[in-house]
Amino acid sequence: MKGKILLVSGPSGSGKSTLIKRLITEFGEQIYFSISSTTREMRAGEADGVNYHFISESEFRAGIERGEFLEWALVHGKYYGTSLKAATSELERGKIVIFDIDVQGYEIVRGKVPKNELTSVFITTPSLSELRDRLRARGDNDPADIALRLQNAQEEMERLGEYDYFIINDRLEAAYENLRSIYKTIKLETASRDIGKLIEIWKI
Ligand code: ADP
Ligand code: 5GP
Repeated sequence: MKGKILLVSGPSGSGKSTLIKRLITEFGEQIYFSISSTTREMRAGEADGVNYHFISESEFRAGIERGEFLEWALVHGKYYGTSLKAATSELERGKIVIFDIDVQGYEIVRGKVPKNELTSVFITTPSLSELRDRLRARGDNDPADIALRLQNAQEEMERLGEYDYFIINDRLEAAYENLRSIYKTIKLETASRDIGKLIEIWKI
């Protein structure tokens, strides 16, 4: 593979999409955001084929049967999965492929992808109450759903140590600078793979 995977996890509402969007805005063509499939409801402001492929449970199950997912998991009672085909072809083209997936998905990907092809980042808020405020501010207004996401967040936090990096998304600007540095490091690692070509050029 010529490209690399930047895998981002963290509680729902911690700011993953916001930070990833900024990275895509800045580095555009060098990045491919892996659009997951999900059976959850579309939120206001989301679009099919942009944030997710919103599909039915029977379509999702058929995708599992056909082996279309690199990984899939049940998160907050809904199915989420990463398409194998799209991610593989973009990695072959040399792109940095971003996965926004949960801790279960990370565990599966880690078991399938060589260590040097994968960089993982866990993004979180400074506290649980800040996470609650951000979920509400985003317009998530089903109290049961918020409660489920907060409970899941506490469980996910226990897995923090399994990631290469973690970012506390307190001030957005500072959090973005950290994600940007991680991205730049991955780019430098991929650039160093052209060593053979460089040596050839230097030959008389
Ligand atoms: P996730 O993708 O992790 O579920 P979002 O990116 O949707 O999270 O962010 C959740 C909410 O928090 C959004 O309304 C977003 O605008 C807001 N948000 C993100 N980062 C910050 C920050 N540093 N400070 C305040 N609000 C933020
Ligand atoms: P949300 O519903 O807030 O968009 O996402 C809920 C959770 O599902 C987040 O933790 C997010 O990272 C995770 N998620 C999104 N896509 C995938 C995926 O393809 N696979 C897995 N395992 N988790 C995903």
